[in-house]
Amino acid sequence: MLRVGLSGGIGSGKSTVAGRLAEHGAVVIDADRLAREVVEPGTDGLREVVAAFGAEVLGPDGALNRPALAAKVFGDEQALATLNGITHPRIAARTGELIAAAPEDAIVVHDVPLLVEKDMAPLYHLVVIVHADLDERLVRLRDRGVAEEDARRRIAAQADDERRRAVADVWLDNSGTPDLVLAQVDALWADRLVRYESNIRLRRYAAGPPIVVPYDETWPVQATRVAARIRLAAGGRTVEHIGSTAVPGLAAKDVLDFQLGVESLDEAAELEEALTQAGFPGRGVAEDAVRYEDDTQENWLKRLHAGADPGRRVNLHVRVEGGPAWNWAIRFRDWLRADAAARDEYAAMKLELSEKHRGDAEGFAYGDAKEPWMETATARVDAFYRDGQAS
Ligand code: ADP
Repeated sequence: MLRVGLSGGIGSGKSTVAGRLAEHGAVVIDADRLAREVVEPGTDGLREVVAAFGAEVLGPDGALNRPALAAKVFGDEQALATLNGITHPRIAARTGELIAAAPEDAIVVHDVPLLVEKDMAPLYHLVVIVHADLDERLVRLRDRGVAEEDARRRIAAQADDERRRAVADVWLDNSGTPDLVLAQVDALWADRLVRYESNIRLRRYAAGPPIVVPYDETWPVQATRVAARIRLAAGGRTVEHIGSTAVPGLAAKDVLDFQLGVESLDEAAELEEALTQAGFPGRGVAEDAVRYEDDTQENWLKRLHAGADPGRRVNLHVRVEGGPAWNWAIRFRDWLRADAAARDEYAAMKLELSEKHRGDAEGFAYGDAKEPWMETATARVDAFYRDGQAS
């Protein structure tokens, strides 16, 4: 099952996008709708609301009078907490039921207006944000009967574009005509969501040839998003962004590398299923190159996982935190961050080797070819740490 979080400001076109995803076969769970359902007439949710706020929050038909309830909680944190205490657990339970009832191969789209505000992004395999320019949203909301002043007030109360961008794995711009965004949704479905879902179900990771590209300024923010997912799936353990994409300015393969800290390889094995379901299928035990002559391979073993998302390649090295391989990865990264000459040397070597190994779909030969340089780098990394300065 693939869990997609869908959000966007009011009037951005979120419902339009959700509708198209549903046409493709997604199981759409609409958080706003559930919020209404849990307080429909006849529900125990509505009974509790009446018990807490009085019968004056009911209309003549016995249904919830939303403006009356809103007036009671507006500006009153205590009252709002009481209301949320009634509705939120019920919405969460119902969401859980709907997810549990979805088929194993479902692509579940959770349409949540407050996804950003509630820090829910790491719960999903992928977060899709729908955006439209402010003026455009005001016009569309006006056409839907929302006065401009009211629309502006609601928009100001929501997360801003910067916060939305930070969590967006996919940014759908719906400032233009509907057919433009719908074409983007169709491509997203076919090229990414369908493949991502089947990759997770079949425990396949997304692979590709070793193509080195110039440093991408968005790698750190992408890494922050992926790391949050890994951390959540791994019960809050330490996650570090390592490797070339963690070195500002360095050309690299467009593959984000992370290490996840465990106390032992047994503990790493216990995390395999959770990481796989979170979108990082396991590839078994792997050997890191032993960097010191007097050390043994046993101290340089890890469990390797890799990302299933065809739109964002990830390698996840599950290593003993504070062990030699863990420390070496951090030192190597920090040395490259500090030493511009070493960075240029490394980039030139990688570019040359990636040219040579272009046909190597898994990147194994490319990785092996880098080894001699990496071996010589170890002494320089150690010197850097010993002397506290670049080579
Ligand atoms: P949201 O769910 O984000 O509040 P909707 O999908 O309901 O937004 O869209 C808001 C309004 O704008 C709706 O009336 C919708 O039909 C309309 N709309 C959506 N996308 C476009 C577009 N690209 N051009 C014009 N109108 C649009």
